[in-house]
Amino acid sequence: MSTFEVHDPATGEVVGTYPIHEAADVEAAVRRARGAAAFWSALSFEERAARLDRWRGVIARRAAQLAGVMHVEMGKPHADATLEIALTLEHLAWAAKNAKKVLGPRSVPTGLFMANHAATVEYLPLGVVGVIGPWNYPVFTPMGSIAYALAAGNAVVFKPSEYTPATGAWLADSFAQVVPEHPVLQVVTGLGGTGAALCRAGVDKLAFTGSPGTGRKVMAACAENLVPVIIEAGGKDALLVDLDADLDEAAEAAVWGGMANAGQTCIGVERVYVHERVYDAFVSKVIDRAKRVRAGSDAGAQIGPIAMPSQVDIIRRHIEGALERGAKAVVGGKDAISGSFVQPTVLVDVPEDCAAVREETFGPTLTVAKVRDMDEAVNLANGTRYGLGATVFSKRRGLDLARRIRSGMAAVNAVISYAGMPALPFGGVAESGFGRIHGPDGLREFTYAKAIARQRFKPPLALLTFARTAKSDALVAKIIALTHGGK
Ligand code: NAD
Repeated sequence: MSTFEVHDPATGEVVGTYPIHEAADVEAAVRRARGAAAFWSALSFEERAARLDRWRGVIARRAAQLAGVMHVEMGKPHADATLEIALTLEHLAWAAKNAKKVLGPRSVPTGLFMANHAATVEYLPLGVVGVIGPWNYPVFTPMGSIAYALAAGNAVVFKPSEYTPATGAWLADSFAQVVPEHPVLQVVTGLGGTGAALCRAGVDKLAFTGSPGTGRKVMAACAENLVPVIIEAGGKDALLVDLDADLDEAAEAAVWGGMANAGQTCIGVERVYVHERVYDAFVSKVIDRAKRVRAGSDAGAQIGPIAMPSQVDIIRRHIEGALERGAKAVVGGKDAISGSFVQPTVLVDVPEDCAAVREETFGPTLTVAKVRDMDEAVNLANGTRYGLGATVFSKRRGLDLARRIRSGMAAVNAVISYAGMPALPFGGVAESGFGRIHGPDGLREFTYAKAIARQRFKPPLALLTFARTAKSDALVAKIIALTHGGK
């Protein structure tokens, strides 16, 4: 079997070698998963929850070890890796606890003509779910699908990013400790081809997180067998600062939201639109804070390297393209890039049609622009192809502005807060994808709705029969007039 290497992004050193699973290997994994799914789906919600809770305990007790694996593979500081694990455990707990309430059978009204029936709806597991993940949040992001798919009663075959395979394998190994009977959660490793093979391996649904370009390929491969997909793709999230905003809080949110994880966050802040009356004060606060953030691999650095070498070229193109068009770097700039490390960069006066404003940069960069009023800010925020998350800082109008931004999620007077709330759905619109992970919607994504109508007694008025009489037809006409005619 051929293999691929994983490199420490800070040093370039090889930190692991993993098999490239071919189509036949992936199909075999899905076949094994099918058997495991029969075992797993036959457990009650309570039995599954008990196992998922035990898994949560294992992850929590060994969090330092998992954080170490994440740090070596993709470079994020240990403390950030630990925070990522903490948030993931909240989701795992919520999914296990709420699956029965959200998915279990419930009675629904039958309506006038069907009053002799009882009606129930319940959400049944699909079977085997394929999950394809990215590297930037190698635990939190795939677990948004894995935890919810498992809680809903599915088996999962997970293809982690080729940059973070050990993190993926760690998750599957720890799960196997608490569920040793069957391979309910398996990992297959490899490059894009392995992901494509998973789309075609007979899974019942495919949850993809990654770039919109790969999302298109995933959809096309899944379309061959009518396999439904969830696409969690990229973003170009905006942060809006209203004239009554708390500027210290907003500046802190912009810098942390834009630079944390070296900007490699799908819901990271990439663009900032600030009311002209508070623009100068806001920019100087951003400069103060951004200057204190440093990229490095030592313990004192707040952000790590850029994990994917090709991304460094994109970041450079965005910064240089903006500067060539007259933008100013008030922090960082052309010299911010050295090897795989990018120092914080804040650009102002960037024309709105620059790549730095329109395309996902995925680096520790921010563009900050002045707006006449918040209507202009909303229009500009809505001006890209993306629609993942958004942030609004405003004392009076936060909720109103958040609603007007076309994005799947929005945080008011804080940043990225929605991702830490398991009851809230997570996902985007437009190029940012579709479908939802997290929350009740995230549980239902990995199920199909099963509707059952049960006749309790013979109807006084038989309608679903060729034996219908002229009298009953006339009665139907009368009922229509009475119930709907007056509208
Ligand atoms: P990517 O699209 O390059 O890769 C994602 C995964 O897809 C990897 O596992 C990769 O091996 C696999 N893949 C590649 N080609 C494939 C193919 N033809 N068929 C099937 N699978 C294939 O993305 P990435 O660089 O790993 O991640 C960064 C992107 O992910 C950014 O755009 C970021 O915004 C996005 N992201 C989105 C979310 C979200 O929830 N919306 C979360 C995290 C990251």
